[in-house]
This record gives sequence, structure tokens and C-alpha cells, in this order.
Amino acid sequence: MSLIKENIISIKNELPPGVTLIAVSKKKSAEQILEAYQTGHRDFGENYIQELLTKQPVLPNDINWHFIGHLQSNKVKYIVPFITYIHSVDSEKLLVEINKQAAKNNKIIKVFLQIHIATEETKFGLSYEEADEILKKADEYKYVNIIGVMAMASNTNDENQINKEFYSISQFIKKYNQLVNLCIGMSNDYLIAIKNNATHIRIGSKIFGER
Ligand SMILES: *Cc1c(COP(=O)(O)O)cnc(C)c1O
Repeated sequence: MSLIKENIISIKNELPPGVTLIAVSKKKSAEQILEAYQTGHRDFGENYIQELLTKQPVLPNDINWHFIGHLQSNKVKYIVPFITYIHSVDSEKLLVEINKQAAKNNKIIKVFLQIHIATEETKFGLSYEEADEILKKADEYKYVNIIGVMAMASNTNDENQINKEFYSISQFIKKYNQLVNLCIGMSNDYLIAIKNNATHIRIGSKIFGER
């Protein structure tokens, strides 16, 4: 069996029930995605619009595509027709545009608000206060369903720091009944994410190898 298949099967075997694995396939080919697909896996995450638009048409229709990269409003229209989840909603402007394009396509898009929990300035995401403001108005957006939050922890080996960041976001979602999904954890920190009640983890290199 190929390494990709072995990796995906062994990661899934160690996940508790109810945790969805998103296989992050950025910079990997359609052939590599297909290998993972052949194990029965259907949830794939992509970061870049152009890459996704190249791969999506040549891959099976029953893939659940998760958009996890920074998304510019003017690119939303290209992915709305086929995207299942958008995890990287980091402004109200973007939410407004997703709502508009979803309405045009007569579909409801499931979205996650991306929250900035890391210490680095460079990562995208809303503060908890900004997320509160958007959630107050969630009903205005008829064609988006805000089902959870997504976040990336600080890029550090300090497990206590990562744990603190994941814990804080796990507490934040308790304020909102609609936020039932918590998308945290990547190759290096997904076990800490699971301890903090992650419902979705996003794993790239541990499945497909280094990029
Ligand atoms: C690339 C990426 C991942 C996967 O990272 P790995 O460390 O390769 O598992 C997860 N989430 C986001 C937002 C990413 O950009």
C-alpha cells in the first residue's frame, strides 16, 4: 500500500468518534489526492483558489471540499458553486460576499469564523470581540450558516502555550449554541486539539509528506 494510504488510515484509526479529519492537500497533485480518496476518505482542505480550481474538476464529485486558506472577497464567486465548507471567514465583508454568491447559486454555505488565537501577528483571523459582533448579526445572512470556528495555534514547540490557546477557543464556542464545530489542530498539534474537544482537524504533511 502507498504511504499516503497508510498514513491516512493510521491517523483515522487513532481519532475518537466524532472527529472529522480534513486532509490538507495544498501543493499536492490530483493523483495524490486520489490515492487518499481511494481509502474512502472524502474531506479535503485547500488553501489556494487557483490550485483548487485546477484540481476540483478532475477529481470525483463526492469530495467535500473545505476552503481553509486566506480568501479574498473577489475570489469567492469561483468556489461557491462547488465548495462545501469555508473555514477562513475573517471579516464581515467576506461573509457578506459569501452570502451574496450563495444566494446567486441558491445554496447555503456552511462557514467557520477564523479566530486569531496565536501570538504571531502574521496569522489571519478575528478577535473574539470581532467574532461576537458578527455572531450578533448572523441571522441577517440567510445563505450562510455559521457552524463553528477555526483557528491555528502559535507556531511553537511549547505544548502548554498551544494547549492554552486551544482551551480558550473551546471555551468561547460554549457561548453560542450554533457553534457546534471546533476546527483546530494540524500535523504537529492535533493530539492537543483533540484533548480540547476539536471536531475537525486539518492534517497535511503527516498524510502527504513535507511540502
Ligand atoms: C497547511 C495548513 C494545514 C496543514 O498543515 P500541516 O502542518 O501540514 O498538517 C492546516 N491548516 C491550515 C490553515 C493550513 O494552511
